[in-house]
Amino acid sequence: MTQPGKVCLIGAGPGDPELITLRALRMLEAADVVVHDKLVSREILNMVRPGCRMIPVGKSPKCHPVPQDRINDILVTEASKGHTVARLKGGDPMIFGRGSEEAAYLIKHGIAVEYAPGITAAQGASCVTGVPLTHRGLATSVQYVTGHRQADKVLDLDWKRLADPDTTLVIYMGVANIGQIAMGLMTENLPGATPILAVSRATTPDERRLVSRLDQIATDVRDQAFKAPTLFIIGKVVSLCADRAIADLIDPVKAHG
Ligand code: SAH
Repeated sequence: MTQPGKVCLIGAGPGDPELITLRALRMLEAADVVVHDKLVSREILNMVRPGCRMIPVGKSPKCHPVPQDRINDILVTEASKGHTVARLKGGDPMIFGRGSEEAAYLIKHGIAVEYAPGITAAQGASCVTGVPLTHRGLATSVQYVTGHRQADKVLDLDWKRLADPDTTLVIYMGVANIGQIAMGLMTENLPGATPILAVSRATTPDERRLVSRLDQIATDVRDQAFKAPTLFIIGKVVSLCADRAIADLIDPVKAHG
């Protein structure tokens, strides 16, 4: 009888291979099959054991080469053959990563699921820029927000709730809609001078950073051709950026005002 297989839902972290957890590495090294996303770096893909089968199922904006239903089927089929399957995702699988949707499908089909968390992009961007997500006197909370809706539906976020000057906002998947996001926040009275940091490909050799203000970010992102994956950190904490060239661009009076 075939031994039951399982699926390990693994977070690969934001890109830098040093930011993968020991648990993730152990699970990856034990895998017979790895089903991986586009955001996972080559160095991490190279950590698998010899002979491990690699199945890329990556998505990029407006391009879904392997539909989610098909990914679910691949996971069930491979685990049903008795394989140990690593489902490897960028960042953390449970933060804007559909990890919980895949887990629900697998459990429904009687497949065992194990988890290894990953460092999410917000933590990765924070650690490379020195921008804290909370800081006494500047931000009492942090919110992770999607800047994109399924099937390109209108972004109808609760702007009133988000426009809190004492909260740090981290926008995932927001590069195409950043103008709309900034407008929504300013309409609910978040000052146009609020600092905002864009980090693209954080923690990788291709990392790029840009600091701006809410009322200027859409133009700057367009002019400097920022593309996904880009993360935005919005709030007074951006003034603490360890990169002095960036921090000095921020007017502390207006930013903290
Ligand atoms: N599960 C992932 C998020 C997937 S959604 C995580 O926990 O990080 C994809 C979005 O994540 C991208 O559009 C971008 O906003 C963000 N992202 C992921 N990796 C990133 C990186 N290295 N640098 C900047 N943003 C990143």
